[in-house]
Amino acid sequence: MINFNVPPFTGKEMEYMRQAVENQKICGDGEFTRRCSTWIEERTGTSKSLLTTSCTHALELAALLAEIKEGDEVIMPSFTFVSTADAFVLRGARIVFVDIRPDTMNIDENLIEAAVTGKTRAIAVVHYAGVSCEMDKIMEIARKHQLIVVEDAAQGIMASYKGKPLGTIGDFGCFSFHETKNYSMGEGGALLIRDEKYIEDAEIFREKGTDRSKFFRGQVDKYRWMNHGSSYLPSDMNAAYLYAQLEMADEINDIRLARWKQYYERLSRLMESGKIELPKVPEGCIHNGHMFYIKTKDMEERAALIAFLKKNEILSVFHYVPLHSAPAGIKFGRFHGEDIYTTKESERLLRLPMFYKLKEQEVDYVAGKVKEFYGA
Ligand SMILES: *Cc1c(COP(=O)(O)O)cnc(C)c1O
Repeated sequence: MINFNVPPFTGKEMEYMRQAVENQKICGDGEFTRRCSTWIEERTGTSKSLLTTSCTHALELAALLAEIKEGDEVIMPSFTFVSTADAFVLRGARIVFVDIRPDTMNIDENLIEAAVTGKTRAIAVVHYAGVSCEMDKIMEIARKHQLIVVEDAAQGIMASYKGKPLGTIGDFGCFSFHETKNYSMGEGGALLIRDEKYIEDAEIFREKGTDRSKFFRGQVDKYRWMNHGSSYLPSDMNAAYLYAQLEMADEINDIRLARWKQYYERLSRLMESGKIELPKVPEGCIHNGHMFYIKTKDMEERAALIAFLKKNEILSVFHYVPLHSAPAGIKFGRFHGEDIYTTKESERLLRLPMFYKLKEQEVDYVAGKVKEFYGA
């Protein structure tokens, strides 16, 4: 059986977790948390990275820092994971969904401005499959209308747009280290902060509304309740697991990209004959091999292909029931303009197995079975 995902594991995780336990500081912001944050800051050039308990929580921190309030509107794609929206809904925001581009499945940058109203406070972009949104255009709209930009870069670590790492272009960037992502700590994430003016508040929100982060650095002699907040910091044992992978980030990235290219090459003839579509990576975007997906003719063909692959011991999955058509999406949001691509394209998308330990022969086998399904 070829699984759809196998959580990343490099071999050093157990040793680092043992060290974290032996350091006798297993709560948040220990040695391994510091190493992970420093790694992210050095690799991306962001002003500050704070490790969090999930990408969902990093998005919640971003919504708190953006001071989203009851009735504010946030523009985002409907083709995304629920947390992109939920983080803002928790602050009382209304979600305004706009359509995606069919080539990248990312928000259509040309539809954003028409959705801006007097209540719009932020744009939340999602870099689907680690392929960047059209950030130049999005940042220009944000500047013109004074909007905060939050990058849901859950799938975007190590990827870039015109040389800039994803997560560092908007005001806030959010990574995920869930077990389904390129680097993992089980559950976890990180908030990237571009402008230093937000760092102090971010530390307070993350540490239950206290200035304990300052206290630990010896900058204040006692810590106090400073503001509202919650508990968004992961334990150091989880950070230790993650650090073993960040140390090998390039190797993991290279392997994923190699498997991605192999799929692409093996399936390109099926694309040329018009049977399926393959992902598009626009000029200027460097992705990270997070995901390999194909697009079938329609939902029925996709269901048949999933069943055929399953019979051949291959697990493939699809995702995102568009948020605007889900119960909470109807309650908390509205779709601006016409849904030309969101629903239609989401019904055609199928993700093939993709993970660090996926073998070359396995990619050949999966690609071969997809071709067999199409009689090629
Ligand atoms: C995985 C994912 C999330 C959620 O990440 P968690 O770390 O599980 O909270 C949010 N947005 C997108 C686009 C994702 O792929």
